[in-house]
Amino acid sequence: MAIAVDRALDQIREKVEANVRLDLEDGLTLLESDDLLALGELADLSRRVRGGDDKVYFVQNLYLNQTNVCRVKCKFCAFAATQKQEQAYTTTPEELVADALAQREVTGFTEIHMVNGENPHVDFEFYRDTIRRLHEAMPDVHLKCYTASEIHHMTTLSGLSHEEVLRELKAVGLGSLPGGGAEIFAERVRRLVTPGKEHPDIWFHVHDAAHKMGIPTHCTMLYGHVETYEERIDHLLRLRDQQDKTGGFLAFVPLAFHPENTVFERRGFTFQTGAEDLKMLAVSRLMLDNIANIKAYWISLTMPVAQIALHMGANDVQGTVVRESIFHSAGATTGTEQKIAELVRVVQEAGRIPVQRDTLYNEVRRWES
Ligand code: SF4
Repeated sequence: MAIAVDRALDQIREKVEANVRLDLEDGLTLLESDDLLALGELADLSRRVRGGDDKVYFVQNLYLNQTNVCRVKCKFCAFAATQKQEQAYTTTPEELVADALAQREVTGFTEIHMVNGENPHVDFEFYRDTIRRLHEAMPDVHLKCYTASEIHHMTTLSGLSHEEVLRELKAVGLGSLPGGGAEIFAERVRRLVTPGKEHPDIWFHVHDAAHKMGIPTHCTMLYGHVETYEERIDHLLRLRDQQDKTGGFLAFVPLAFHPENTVFERRGFTFQTGAEDLKMLAVSRLMLDNIANIKAYWISLTMPVAQIALHMGANDVQGTVVRESIFHSAGATTGTEQKIAELVRVVQEAGRIPVQRDTLYNEVRRWES
C-alpha cells in the first residue's frame, strides 16, 4: 500500500532535526495533515532529539473523588451534581482516610490523585483537614490533589490568596497539583462550554504560584468539542510559555472529550476516533518541546491505542488506577499486580522498557526485556 507523503511536513522535519522550536503555523500544518504515520515518526524523533529514550513510565495510584457537588455546571461534565440531587455525595475527611487505608490493605499505591466538584457547602478547613489526615495516615504516599479551579474555589471560600491556600496545603502534606480545569484556554470556547468557570489567567496564576513555591503540577487539554485547530495550538503555546517561565509542569495529558451523558450527546457529538487521538498526542509532543513527559491516558484512549501512542511521542501510560480495579473486581487481592503485569506486557510488546515511577518521575522498578 502506498503511503501518502505530506510534503508540507518537510520543512517542519528540518526544524525538528535541528531542535528548532515550532510556531503556530507549524502546529496548524501538523494538525491539518492526514499523514498519521509521518506525524508519529516526527513526534518520536522530536522526543529523541531532546534526550528521550526507550523508557515508558507508569505509577501505582489511587483515584479519589471526595465530593461531586459542584457549583459550576460545565456543559461537558457528567460527574457533577447539585446538593439536592440523589447522586450527590460528600465524604468527610475521616471517611475518606478510612476508605484510602482500606484500599491500601488490598493493594499498594504510591500516589493519591484526587479531584472534586467545587462544593460551595464546605469550607477551607474541610480541604486542609483532608490533606492533613491523609498525610498523617500515609506519609509515604504522594498527595496529588486539587485542580487549579479547586484551589481558586478555596480562595473564594476562605478569603485567602492562591499563594496562602497553597502554602497552607503544602504545610500539611500536599505534594503536587493535577492538571484539570484547563479545558481549552480560548475565551470563545470557555464561554460556550464552561461559562461558570474562572478566566484562564487564574488557572495560570495558580500553577505559576505553585511552581514558584516548589509544588510541581501537571497540565491538560480537553479537546474534541467546539474548539478549532487554532484554539488547540494556542492552548499548547500558552502552556509552553508558562513552562519557559517556571518549569514546574511534570507532564502534559491530552484528554479526549467524552460526550456521553452530557448536552453534547443530545446534540449529536460522538467520541474522537483513534486517529484523531493519536494525531493530538503527536502534535502535543512536537509543540511542547519543554515538557518532558506526554501521557497516553489509557483509560480514555483504550490500551491498544495507548500502545501505538508510545511510537507517536508518548512516554507515559499514567497508572494502575487502583480504585477502578477494586470497583470492578470487588475483593480481588491481585487487581493491581494484574494491571501492572498488563501494562508491562503492553509496553514491552511495543518494544519499550517499562518503568514504574513515583509521582516525581523517580524510578521505583524497571523491567528489562
Ligand atoms: S468544575 Fe469540574 S466537576 Fe464542576 S461541572 Fe466543571 S468539570 Fe464538572
